Amino acid sequence: MPLIAVNEAARIVEEATAVLSTEEVSLVEAIGRALRQTVQADRDVPPYDRVMMDGIAFNHRDWENDVRQYSIVGTQAAGAPPEILTGSGNCFEIMTGSELSNGCDCVVPYEEVEINEGKAQIVDGFVPQPGRFVHKTGSDYPAGATLLQPGYRLTSRQIAIAAASGCTHLRVTRLPRISLVSTGDELVEIDLPVERHQIRPSNAYSLQAGLAALGISTVKRSHLNDRPEEIEKKLVSLLEDSDVLILSGGVSKGRYDYVPEILEKLGVKKLFHGVTQRPGKPFWFGRQDDGPSVFALPGNPLSTLVCFHRFVVPSLEKMLGLPTPPTVWASLAEPFDFEPPQTFFLPVAAESQPDGLLSATPRSVSNSGDYASIVSTSGFVELPGEDLSEFPTGYCAKYFSWI
Ligand code: AMP
Ligand code: MG
Repeated sequence: MPLIAVNEAARIVEEATAVLSTEEVSLVEAIGRALRQTVQADRDVPPYDRVMMDGIAFNHRDWENDVRQYSIVGTQAAGAPPEILTGSGNCFEIMTGSELSNGCDCVVPYEEVEINEGKAQIVDGFVPQPGRFVHKTGSDYPAGATLLQPGYRLTSRQIAIAAASGCTHLRVTRLPRISLVSTGDELVEIDLPVERHQIRPSNAYSLQAGLAALGISTVKRSHLNDRPEEIEKKLVSLLEDSDVLILSGGVSKGRYDYVPEILEKLGVKKLFHGVTQRPGKPFWFGRQDDGPSVFALPGNPLSTLVCFHRFVVPSLEKMLGLPTPPTVWASLAEPFDFEPPQTFFLPVAAESQPDGLLSATPRSVSNSGDYASIVSTSGFVELPGEDLSEFPTGYCAKYFSWI
């Protein structure tokens, strides 16, 4: 199979991805999840004429009759049913959040009155108006209005609306069961002694951190040695128990790179193997009929991370029923060149400028195993080098932020 271009690979992944089914969870469990129902206002918003300032309330007719000093005859507190103001020249002290008392149509904040011995005098120059500082019943939304549509990620604003509408439970996309699989005889778990010729499986942990940022906690980590029988046996059960399999390592042309061959043997249909990109060229992607998507990423830590952000994250967002995030563009702060033809993913430190431009300073790394040097970067830009090899200062490229 020939190598394919980055855009083509992204399209194939997108087409092979289906939105997951839904489940109903409590409001707090729904935080960070993708909403899959509408949320309606269960009553008018606000549900009553809501007072917006602490102060006094009276009837504007008295003001028209030249009353400037009002006798305080009671207090209207938030959370109490509305009191009834009677007589003329009288007022209530009234609190923010309370319902406007019956018989009152006018609120004057404390800042505009002087209170002495039970009398409230309106300060010179202030002109009360009926309805001012009162948030009218239903003026935001009438009962029954749709406040949230399916597809939102439930963060603070959406959760506030759901809570205010009395939603104790919400229908959300179920979380994908994800298996993170490290492969390689050289890998030793991080809590075990490590020999000189061995390394620790950092990829499994970096990917788990990335998944956590997407709100996905339904993750299992496992490790496979470079032994075909072991790989095959373990993959059979992982394919059964997962919605998404993300492997790292074992997909190149090395003698011990068994992963692609075994995946195909187990009925995972290869959709591509090899993308004209750097890093991450040996990336393999496939899908089992009625089974999981399988992302088999090259093991070099930077390759793994770049492929995860460029291909796996958009697929997971679609699976979760989240909207496609807008494309972000960044402008190169320095020129950069590389050998074509391939797409180059260049780690950058991106910073927003006063003119609104996102400026990306290249932080080229010496090799795709050099992950420590990307700690200070904010993401990477995608330089499409199919026909171009030199990218000047000011070149605008697609920008992907590390999650
Ligand atoms: P591979 O893709 O298996 O040829 O591995 C490429 C490089 O990435 C090798 O140097 C591996 O040791 C390294 N590598 C593979 N898997 C991991 C992992 N889970 N964490 C860190 N490095 C890895
Ligand atoms: Mg390997």
